[in-house]
Amino acid sequence: MFRLATIDGRSAFQFDDGFVDVARVAGDESLGSPMNAIARFTELHALAEKAAAQPRIQGTPGICVPKPSKVFGIGLNYKSHAAESNMELPPAPLTFTKFPSCLAGPTADIELSGDTVDWEVEIVVVIGKGGRHIAEADAWSHIAGLTLGQDISDRKVQTTGKPPQFSLGKSFDGYGPIGPAVVSVDSFPNPDDIGLWCDVSGERMQESRTTNLIFSIPYLVHYLSGICTLESGDLIFTGTPDGVGMARGQLLKAGDVIDSGADIIGTLRNVCVAGK
Ligand code: ZN
Repeated sequence: MFRLATIDGRSAFQFDDGFVDVARVAGDESLGSPMNAIARFTELHALAEKAAAQPRIQGTPGICVPKPSKVFGIGLNYKSHAAESNMELPPAPLTFTKFPSCLAGPTADIELSGDTVDWEVEIVVVIGKGGRHIAEADAWSHIAGLTLGQDISDRKVQTTGKPPQFSLGKSFDGYGPIGPAVVSVDSFPNPDDIGLWCDVSGERMQESRTTNLIFSIPYLVHYLSGICTLESGDLIFTGTPDGVGMARGQLLKAGDVIDSGADIIGTLRNVCVAGK
C-alpha cells in the first residue's frame, strides 16, 4: 500500500504524521519526479513500507499528478445526477477533456470565472501502466491508484452553443483540484465501492458511493483504451453524483469553501476567490 503525494514538486509518501521523500528512501533520484514515480508504481509498495520507519518532512501537498498527458472527464455517470440534469442516461461514457493546465493542489484557491461556476466531487483514476485495448478484467492492474477531484465547471461556458462543448468550461486554470495523494488500489477494502461527499460552506451538497456509477471504473479504462492509448499518469474524472449547484439554483461565490472527501483517500479544501 502507498499514498503518493508531492511536496515542493517532489514525490513524497504521505503518512498521518508527515511525508517521506520517495527518491531519498529509494536511493534513486529519478523517483523524485512524481510522473516517474507513478510510472513505477509497482515498486512503490515496498518503498512505502521502508519509508514508514524514516524521519518525516513537513509541507503542504501540491498536485499529486502534475503533468498527465491526458485528463478525461466523464459526464452523467451517476443515474441520480443524470436525473437532476434532466438528461437521458448515456449509451456510452459521455467523455470530454479537462486540459491538464486546469489541475491544482488539494488546498488551492479557485479563482471564479463568473457567477455560474459549480462544484462536482469525483473519484479520479490515475493510470499507472498504459496500454491499448485493456480488458475490463485487467483494468485494475493498470491503475496506479485513486485520488479525489473536483470537476469545477463554468456552466455558462459549458452549455453555450448547440451542441454544447464541455471541455473549455471545465478547463479554466484551477478548475481541477486533485489530491491529497494517489492512493494505491490495495488500500481499499473494495475499490468498486468508495463513498464520496462534498460540502459547500458547511452544507452537505453531495454524498454517494462509486457502486452507483453507471459505467464502472474498469469499464471506463476498457472503453477509453479502446480509442486512445492510455499512458502512465493519465487521469479519468469518473463523474459526479447528484447535488450539484446547477440543480439547486445555488452556484459558487467568492468566499465559499468547498470541502470534498472520500473514504480512505482523504479530503480537499478549496476556497473560492473572485476572478480578475
Ligand atoms: Zn464532472
